[in-house]
Parts: sequence; C-alpha cells; structure tokens
Amino acid sequence: MAFNPFEMAQQQFDGVAEKLGLSESIRSLLRVPMREYVVSLPIRMDDGSMRVFRGYRVQHNDGRGPCKGGIRFFPGETVDTVRALATWMTWKCSVVDIPLGGGKGGIDCDPHELSMTEQERLCRAWVRALSTEVGPFLDVPAPDMMTNGQHMLWMLDEYETLHHGRYPGFITGKPVGSGGSLGRTEATGYGVICTLHEALKMLGIDIAKTTASIQGFGNVAYYACERYTKLGGKIICVSCWDNTDKQSHAFKRASGVDIVELKGISDRFGSIDREKARELGYEVLDGDAWIEQDVDILIPAALENQINGDNVSKISSHVKVIAEGANGPTTPEADVEIQKRDIFVIPDFLCNAGGVTCSYFEQVQCNMNYFWEKEEVLEKLDMKMASAFRKVCEMAKDKGVYMRDAAYMIAIDRVANACVGRGWAVK
Ligand code: NAD
Repeated sequence: MAFNPFEMAQQQFDGVAEKLGLSESIRSLLRVPMREYVVSLPIRMDDGSMRVFRGYRVQHNDGRGPCKGGIRFFPGETVDTVRALATWMTWKCSVVDIPLGGGKGGIDCDPHELSMTEQERLCRAWVRALSTEVGPFLDVPAPDMMTNGQHMLWMLDEYETLHHGRYPGFITGKPVGSGGSLGRTEATGYGVICTLHEALKMLGIDIAKTTASIQGFGNVAYYACERYTKLGGKIICVSCWDNTDKQSHAFKRASGVDIVELKGISDRFGSIDREKARELGYEVLDGDAWIEQDVDILIPAALENQINGDNVSKISSHVKVIAEGANGPTTPEADVEIQKRDIFVIPDFLCNAGGVTCSYFEQVQCNMNYFWEKEEVLEKLDMKMASAFRKVCEMAKDKGVYMRDAAYMIAIDRVANACVGRGWAVK
C-alpha cells in the first residue's frame, strides 16, 4: 500500500490524544485541518504553450496565531502530504512556543524542468489564486523543498501589488536586504545541530568524537553539516537525489567528507555530480547506503518515509542518535524498532523547528522595521531551540515516554488549551 503521510500524522496524533485523555471535541478538531484550498494554476510556458498546475494550501490550526508553513515545489505533490506537513507545522510552532499555527502549501511541479521565468509565473499565479486566504495575519508562507528566497520575493511582490501596500510580514525566508533576516538560510540546519548538541551533552558524548551520516544535501542538510563539522564532528556519508538518472546516490569518504568541496560540485537543487565526486576520491554508493553506515549519528534531512519498516533493521548498532532534519522521515513502524533498540530520537518537529523560529524572528523584525545582527538572531535561535529541547526531555523523563511522544504531548496540550480557551472545543 502506498505511504500516506497524513495517515501517519493522524496515527501519531491518535496515540498521544489517548495518552493525554483528550476529549472527543478536541480530537475531532485537531485530527483534521481547519481549511484546505486546492487551485488550478494555468501558466503560459516560455514556448507559448499553456500548462495547468495544481496548487495547494492547507491550514491545519490557527488557535495559537496565524498559520505558518513552507511552500514546496514537488513533482507528484499530493493534498495528503500537504495536510500532514500542515499538521506537523502546528505541533512544531507549539513545541518551540512561538505564537503561530500550522499551514503548508505546495505546487505539483518539477522545477528541474521549468525555467526561472516559468517558476516566477507559477509563484505569482499561486498568490493570485489564494490572495484572500493568506496574509500576514492569516497565513504566512516560507521556503521549503525546491523553493528559496527568490520565489518568496516574487510571491511578496504579487501579494503587495494585489493588496496595494507593503506587507513584508506576508512571507518569510525573503532575501536579506528585501525584508529577510540574517541567519534564516542557515537556521533549520543550525537548529538541528543545536538540538543534537544538547542531546549528546545529555548522553555524555563529546560531539567532537562523533561521526555522522546524512541523507540530503539541500538547505537543511548543508547547514547542519556546516555547524556539525565546526563543532568537531565528522561526516562520513552524504546522500542526495540525482535528476539525471532519477535515483539517489550516497557519497562516502571514511576519512570524512568535505562539504565545501561537495557543494562546489553540486547543482542548485542539492544534487552532487557523481563523476566529479569519484575524481575527488569519494565512493559513490546506492542512495540507501546512508542508513547503513557505522556512525554515531544519523541525520535524515531529505524527505518523509525514509526510515521505515523495510530498512530500519539496516541501522548499525553503532548509532546512538537520530536527529530528524526532514519532516516525517520515520514511520510509526520504524519507531517501534528504534525505541526497542534504545536509539535516542530528536523528533522532526522539534529538531527542524529552527527554520520556523527564525521565520518568526523575521516577522518580528519586519514589524519593527528594525533588523538584528546575525549573532543576535543565532543567539536567540539557540536559546529557543535548547529550551524547547530541555522541556521535551524533562517530559520524556517525567512520564517515562519516547521523545516523539513527549514532544507531541507538550505541543498538542498547548494547542488544545488555546482552542478550548477560544471556545472551539471543550475539555
Ligand atoms: P532542499 O530542496 O533544499 O534539499 C533536498 C535535498 O534532498 C536535496 O539534496 C535532494 O537531492 C535530496 N533528496 C531528494 N530526494 C532524495 C532521496 N530520495 N534520497 C536522498 N536524497 C534526496 O530541501 P530542504 O529545504 O533542505 O528540506 C529538506 C527536508 O527538511 C524536507 O523534509 C523539508 O520539509 C524539511 N524542512 C525544511 C526546512 C527549511 O527551512 N528549508 C524547515 C523545516 C523542515
């Protein structure tokens, strides 16, 4: 049966709802998104032909504040994936205690096959179709898979044209100098390593003596690698997608990979050139090899459903921590095995919350029209991430539960209280 991320998100929610003893009205409110939009986006292509793309925006819950969440360009994007990601955004904003709800958007497209002008038209069309449903006080998009600051700026420009004014708080992840925050590009990856560092300290492991294997070489993975190696850790293996043969490949060097070198031979989608990598002395392996490495740390930072019932047994006995940079990388089936093996998991919506936390800082700075130095942004980010991590650990210890359940218990309880307070549900 095909993997359905939304069913997985609901399964995770149901388990925690039971543990928290949530009322029926809270469960029925939080189990499904509050609003969903599916739109057709007719686009004039560069060769003069017309193509119609499918666009999505799902607003899971805004009890704690306006919805917040990325917009992905992804071939074969489905409404269920967007629903799952919107749901996880609600829990993510809640677990780091920022006053925002959960949303997510996407366009079913493959940007590898689109020119920049076609992508610009897609961005503008998505905003035109949804311009009354999103906005600084309703729902705030951000970059995600295969979208970046340039896409955000086109979307902002379209929104401001339609609404006759300047609304820099409409969208985050904007380029610095155009309403963006310093540190936003690095924030998710850095946040991943902030939580990893806290976890290792708690486990009594010196980060400088650890090794890691990572899946993905895009925004999250790259900056996670950068921060991790700066702290002395050694990355042995990196895996990424290659659009030329439509397969993933892993790049291994036992003495440690050089991420700057690899960046120099990768394209803008985070795909590493295999031939050049071989010339530089990397072993090029099957994409799944990243999970089988004898390392201390695994960092899935590409896609959902990457650690599942089929491959969880391939995780080496060396692995002590899994830091989930991607959204939804581990299925509930794999969770059971990971728990049995006592591998410490930093759950996705806590581990990768650095991006949305910094997006929130970006909104705050835009509202003040006063921008902070990078050090100030990163210091605030570290504080927020470390404090959220410690609260989740305390909960896990107090209640004797798995880290993922502890994070869910904190996040869901906060959202449930906000909804009950507003009169949307009863305890
Ligand atoms: P990205 O588009 O910058 O990079 C994605 C990377 O994954 C690329 O290197 C690509 O080659 C690789 N990849 C794709 N399919 C793969 C496969 N089958 N096997 C191995 N590698 C594969 O995306 P990103 O922004 O780095 O996002 C990565 C993950 O992190 C996603 O799950 C996203 O939802 C999540 N996330 C991103 C942010 C953010 O701020 N960018 C924040 C929170 C969570």
